[in-house]
Amino acid sequence: SGRVQLLGLPLDPVSLEAALDLLGDWLAQPRAPHTVVTLNPEFIMQGRSDETFTSAMQRADLVTADGVGIVWAARQLLGLEVPRAPGFDLSAGLMQRHGANLRVFFLGARPGVAEAAAQQAAARYGIVVAGTHHGYFDISEDVRVAELVRDSRPDLLLTAMGAARQEIFNEYWRGVMNVPVMIGVGGVLDVLSG
Ligand code: UDP
Repeated sequence: SGRVQLLGLPLDPVSLEAALDLLGDWLAQPRAPHTVVTLNPEFIMQGRSDETFTSAMQRADLVTADGVGIVWAARQLLGLEVPRAPGFDLSAGLMQRHGANLRVFFLGARPGVAEAAAQQAAARYGIVVAGTHHGYFDISEDVRVAELVRDSRPDLLLTAMGAARQEIFNEYWRGVMNVPVMIGVGGVLDVLSG
């Protein structure tokens, strides 16, 4: 779908609406896991010294431009107009569109925030809360958290554990968690909780 390479990373020049359509298709064919990265300039910088992070971004099924930094870079370096499809808009848009048909797992942020975000999202969009977990656990706990996500059978996993950690987690555990749509969403749970 017109994927381009920007500074060694993939970028899909899709509008928010087109991205939501695509994620809707993935939700309609469960049992196949998909990962989504919303690209920021800091991801590109961090990827330079983190091969695992770069590899996780390269394996993502969808890579959107999170903000104006990537829009600007694509214009300057590729002469391409790339629309923005930020993590918040993707998350809110999916929950708005699919409502009660969507089981969502909220993973990340400080203890209590994921639960508050889940409550707010359930009230606002009518989504079903599949589960919640904070984002401050050791790598040695990854397998336990991945199995917790798997056992709760979500349609959508919002992973908010900071750049790199969230993308690597989604990609590494994608086969275990087997969630149709997994998005690394940075500060989105903090926003949703408020
Ligand atoms: N976060 C987390 N675990 C961590 C680091 C961060 O759950 O080990 C959460 C943090 O509480 C916030 C979100 O990840 O909700 C984004 O954090 P931050 O903005 O610091 O990360 P960045 O995306 O800037 O790297």
